[in-house]
Amino acid sequence: MRIIQNGSLVNAYGIQKADIGISNGIIEFIAPRIQPAPGDTVLDAESCLVFPGFIDAHTHFAMDNGTVMTADDFETGTTAALSGGTTTIIDFATQSKGGNLSDALAAWQQKAEGHSSCHYGFHMAITDWTEGIKTELPHMIEKGVTSFKLYMAYRALMVNDAEIYEILKEMKAVGGFVGVHCENGTLVEAFTAALLREGKRSPAAHPLSRPPELEAEAISRLLYIAKAADWPVAIVHLSSALGLQEVRKARKRGQRVFVETCPQYLFLDDDLYSLPGLEGAKYVCSPPLRKAEDQSALLQALTNGEINSIATDHCSYRFDGQKTLGAGDFTKIPNGLPGVESRPQLIFSRLVDTGLITPEDMCGMLSTCPAHAYGLYPRKGALQVGSDADIVVWERHGECITAKTHHQNTDYTPYEGFLSTGRPRAVLLYGEIAAQECRVIAPRLGRYLHRDVSSWQ
Ligand code: MN
Ligand code: MN
Repeated sequence: MRIIQNGSLVNAYGIQKADIGISNGIIEFIAPRIQPAPGDTVLDAESCLVFPGFIDAHTHFAMDNGTVMTADDFETGTTAALSGGTTTIIDFATQSKGGNLSDALAAWQQKAEGHSSCHYGFHMAITDWTEGIKTELPHMIEKGVTSFKLYMAYRALMVNDAEIYEILKEMKAVGGFVGVHCENGTLVEAFTAALLREGKRSPAAHPLSRPPELEAEAISRLLYIAKAADWPVAIVHLSSALGLQEVRKARKRGQRVFVETCPQYLFLDDDLYSLPGLEGAKYVCSPPLRKAEDQSALLQALTNGEINSIATDHCSYRFDGQKTLGAGDFTKIPNGLPGVESRPQLIFSRLVDTGLITPEDMCGMLSTCPAHAYGLYPRKGALQVGSDADIVVWERHGECITAKTHHQNTDYTPYEGFLSTGRPRAVLLYGEIAAQECRVIAPRLGRYLHRDVSSWQ
């Protein structure tokens, strides 16, 4: 048996000082004191917080955006995730236009299998809705793919309002959980074309091409469609105060809405797009970074308990050779930011350690709530007898986040120089110490997670 001693165990509902006994990859005992027997190994967690493994339900590894591949594949992406304390990621398998869901799932399984240092699952992005695709939904659920993704923007990915409505009706029948990228895609195209006509081609034009009104309009439209279909939805990467207002309206009329935001919308603002030269390209993501008012609105929502989860939308490109493709035309900048490695450190240092939220809140938004939403609870998301021993022993430790030492396959981090006040001393996967002091010591232990239907909706 492996014993974690003297730690403060964090669950979403409370903290308790206790020891954990692990055997066969499962938490077998939780007690004030577990006496080691001969042959047992002991991991000291004195003055540490002990969390259930963090879940990042929004990553894009080994993704082809039509022009370039993301810098991180499953090998480097999951290594970075694990070294930062994330034990499970959920990535997006994406249907190709004219293609089916089974082929998309097989293609993404192949990218991940044997390469993953943390556990992984897939959402299925539906981009081409037909009668044939409808018949595949129960099959996806059987394969453990119980969540789906829809895009209201991006010509190559988006579905229209009638399709969203039909898909939600069908999801209600099979129990599928749906997350949606909310931006008005045709308006993004029109705004972008207008900026280019005016000769606005630098990264500073990026946030103007997709202002918060376009997010808020899409959220409002989606939430009325969801109301008509009588099925709850998730808003992924909520970025703006205007968008948040639409969520509040829907909740006020009695709808259940799952809300995810990301560290970039809490800690970075759109002034960064006006940095000299192409520097602003490093921060190009969609929705774009917003203003200080948006950050405070999201922080307020977060402390009020209105945000269900914090994920990263990790979609990384190198600055040299990838982000620089957009020199002279901001529309050619590959869209996305690295972040899978730093999320726990950022949330701990900037929100928990500053007293804005409690360790229990952090546990809720980084682990328990996504575990419920994505059909992993109580295997994941809790330190309870019977749960999987995916565990993070978190210690106090001062350092700066920097691309010099990170494991993400990028030549920069948007959080360069941010002070971090804690880090994982050890990260366990099914009871094995897989990472120690931010270094992966047992690579490729990640397994595919066959997920149940959501226990949130
Ligand atoms: Mn998106
Ligand atoms: Mn995304």
